[in-house]
Parts: sequence; C-alpha cells; structure tokens
Amino acid sequence: MKIVNLEWKASSDGRPAGFSEIPGSEREIPCELALLAMGFLHPESTGLLDQLEIEKDDRGNVKATEKEYHTSLPKIFAAGDVRRGQSLVVWAISEGRECARKVDEFLNNGTSTLEVKDAAIHVIA
Ligand SMILES: Cc1cc2nc3c(=O)[nH]c(=O)nc-3n(C[C@H](O)[C@H](O)[C@H](O)COP(=O)(O)OP(=O)(O)OC[C@H]3O[C@@H](n4cnc5c(N)ncnc54)[C@H](O)[C@@H]3O)c2cc1C
Repeated sequence: MKIVNLEWKASSDGRPAGFSEIPGSEREIPCELALLAMGFLHPESTGLLDQLEIEKDDRGNVKATEKEYHTSLPKIFAAGDVRRGQSLVVWAISEGRECARKVDEFLNNGTSTLEVKDAAIHVIA
C-alpha cells in the first residue's frame, strides 16, 4: 500500500482547515488489509441510492424535509442517520416514528391515526 504523510493546516480561528500532502513522503508498506477509521461521513451511495438517483444534501446525506421526511422521489421517505447524518439513537427512534406517521398520511389521503409527537426531545451532545 502506498502512503504519504499529511500536514494539517489550521484556519485563523485555530480550527482544522484541511490537510495537504507532504511532498516526497510517499512510500510503500506491506499490507493485506486496510481499515479506514474515518467516522460516519454519509450513507453509502453505491447500490440503492445511486440506482434510485435520489437527491442528496451537501454533506452526502439523503435530502428529505424534516417535517415531511419526503425525499426528492415521490414515494420514498427517509429518516434517521441516512437523512440527518451521524446522530443518536433517540433521534433515529423519534424520526422513525414521525416518518411512519407521514407515510401513513401519504397512504391515507392526508390523515393518520398514529400518535403525534407531543414533546420535543432534548438532546445534549
Ligand atoms: C460505533 C457507533 C457507536 C454509536 N454509539 C452511540 C451511542 O452510544 N449512543 C447513541 O445514541 N448513538 C450511537 N450511535 C449512533 C446510532 O447508532 C445511530 O444514530 C442510529 O443507529 C441510527 O439509526 P438508523 O435507524 O437511522 O440507522 P441504522 O441503525 O444505521 O440502520 C440502518 C439499517 O439499514 C440497513 N441498510 C442499509 N442499506 C440498506 C439497503 N440498501 N437495503 C436494506 N437495508 C439497508 C442497514 O443494514 C441498517 O440495518 C453510534 C453509532 C456508531 C456507528
């Protein structure tokens, strides 16, 4: 595997602004398996999302409105990490319930008997 060293650059407020390759640092190391530990960037596009040609936001998540959960495609809804990006289980549960109600409304001409969320979830992250 070919690797290079990187130099991190900070912006004027001290936050990481990006990195650049250090010239001449390229080298090869023996490797049978490389695991990339990069955290959650966005849902995997290859496969379902690419085949659907679904619209994504500027972070690569599936674009869907927070109130309606409707994607750019008429009968497709999205909730949870795929819509809001890496988050918490409580948000996934809350969005899953709200999204289910929106799907129910969609299927029943705008009405649903499913419970309406009556209290905001307070998340400290
Ligand atoms: C390492 C790690 C640690 C975490 N720790 C915490 C924590 O301590 N507390 C906390 O609140 N949250 C934590 N989270 C975040 C939390 O797990 C997520 O926010 C939550 O699981 C999102 O739920 P979801 O239903 O939106 O997505 P997911 O739980 O990711 O579910 C999506 C499902 O869709 C399936 N899927 C994907 N593509 C397809 C396809 N094409 N066809 C069929 N199925 C498909 C996947 O297999 C998966 O089962 C953690 C996440 C990670 C990765």
